Amino acid sequence: MNRGDTRLHVVWYKRDLRIRDHAPLAQALREGRHVLLLHVFEPEDLKHPTTSNRHLLFRWQAWGELCEEIRSLNWSVETAALQASALEVLIRLHESVGIEALCSYEETGLAHTFKRDQAIAHWTQSNGIQWNEFPQQAVQRGLKNRKRWATDWHKSMRTPMEIPVPGPQLTGCQPVNWPKQWLVEAPPTVQHQWDPGVAGPFQQGGERSGHRYLESFFDGRVKGYRRQIGRPLESRKSCSRLSPYLAWGCLSMRQVYQAYAQAEVSGAKMDMKAFGSRLRWQGHFIQKFESESRMEFESVNRGYLEMEYAGTEAHLQAWKEGKTGVPLVDACMRCVIATGYLNFRMRAMLVSFLTHHLDLPWQAGVEHLARCFLDFEPGIHYAQFQMQAGVTGINTIRIYNPVKQGEERDDEGAFVREWLPELAHLPNEFIHAPWKMPPMERAWSGLDWDYPEPIVDVALAGSAARERLWRFKKSASVRTESKRILDRHVVPDSK
Ligand SMILES: Cc1cc2nc3c(=O)[nH]c(=O)nc-3n(C[C@H](O)[C@H](O)[C@H](O)COP(=O)(O)OP(=O)(O)OC[C@H]3O[C@@H](n4cnc5c(N)ncnc54)[C@H](O)[C@@H]3O)c2cc1C
Repeated sequence: MNRGDTRLHVVWYKRDLRIRDHAPLAQALREGRHVLLLHVFEPEDLKHPTTSNRHLLFRWQAWGELCEEIRSLNWSVETAALQASALEVLIRLHESVGIEALCSYEETGLAHTFKRDQAIAHWTQSNGIQWNEFPQQAVQRGLKNRKRWATDWHKSMRTPMEIPVPGPQLTGCQPVNWPKQWLVEAPPTVQHQWDPGVAGPFQQGGERSGHRYLESFFDGRVKGYRRQIGRPLESRKSCSRLSPYLAWGCLSMRQVYQAYAQAEVSGAKMDMKAFGSRLRWQGHFIQKFESESRMEFESVNRGYLEMEYAGTEAHLQAWKEGKTGVPLVDACMRCVIATGYLNFRMRAMLVSFLTHHLDLPWQAGVEHLARCFLDFEPGIHYAQFQMQAGVTGINTIRIYNPVKQGEERDDEGAFVREWLPELAHLPNEFIHAPWKMPPMERAWSGLDWDYPEPIVDVALAGSAARERLWRFKKSASVRTESKRILDRHVVPDSK
């Protein structure tokens, strides 16, 4: 292809790794003569402390499957996965073949991706390239309040899906000569110190796999959703497990919502209802982050900026490694490191333990768990972290007692035994608080275990945190900020 005949439309894939219900792809196929699908592993991302190898592997798998399907469809489009900065790639592409339009979704991402998007917006404008950016997950850019948000969300979810179909004018474009060092032949890897690894039983990236989870959920897994959602073991099956597919865009929320609206699952009315409301939470949290992105760095409620913490580096390290001596906390941490997944309540409990019992700021753990979660989604992650840390000023303060949580949600201790084999033989009575076993009984039982003593007194640390948090919540600055947050971020009928 030379510059003369080009009408190259570039579909820049970010967190939207699918073919179906993809507005930028549909537009490029409709309007472009030549179409290139591009996915870029950027150096800034590879070194970012929230990125982990499991994310990169998931993206790699999803991208590989997408390219394979494009080939099997016999569409005349090129694909390229590169390791370079997106701006450099686009400049190179424009110099060699000329770009007419760039098509992508808007990304509610971290500061570094937003800065990159600003640079690309500037570059496209200066070069007369049209950048068609589409909103996704019903998230609205520049939104000032939530008055119409819920109505708009439902409208967007009910809109017919975008079915990409190649236009009659579409002809293949010549492959571009990319610099050798940009070509990626294996999943890229992170360029920072600690990574939770990829050796676990992870969910496989890709649209096909996402649809399989969706189908099996409505085929029966949803039954028991409400009853099991808080249980660390059972929820692994009875929750949908759609989060990584939604986070990396192998499924759009609209696809999930429409499948949900059409599903007929007898005997699961309340389970379906509970699931349906959570779908809206996804957009709700991402919208918060979109509207107030400084949440990546500081508490949304500025009244908490002055809060002081007395936690230690040693305690933080014990939390990160699952060596706090509190069984449910450690089992959750070891499980998420090994598998990339944890149900909502256990995620909340981990953050509660970090920020309340260990008296550490949420920033101390937010990147660690981002790396561990296969479904890391900045909008949900930062907002949830702050909510569980009790620094929004508008949510109920919840201090989870990990012993009580264990007794209620893992009553036989099966989850703890699976992840802490050193405690496998403990009687149920002591599985969530081994330190409570009287020394004499321990000696008589013949049992011994190589497991640390708790690094804090769970009950005392919990009440100290409660006192601290309530004192702060009543302060004038927290209350003023709370009012601002309610006006800006809360859907009116839920205030
Ligand atoms: C500290 C903390 C951090 C979190 N970080 C993330 C994250 O990075 N990425 C992420 O997808 N979820 C995050 N969550 C929310 C929630 O825990 C997960 O979405 C859920 O556990 C994923 O499992 P599932 O797909 O089986 O969920 P299901 O219960 O089957 O729900 C279906 C979908 O609804 C959405 N959803 C469910 N619960 C919530 C919620 N509480 N808030 C917002 N959306 C929700 C998700 O998209 C989810 O995939 C976090 C929660 C906490 C407490």
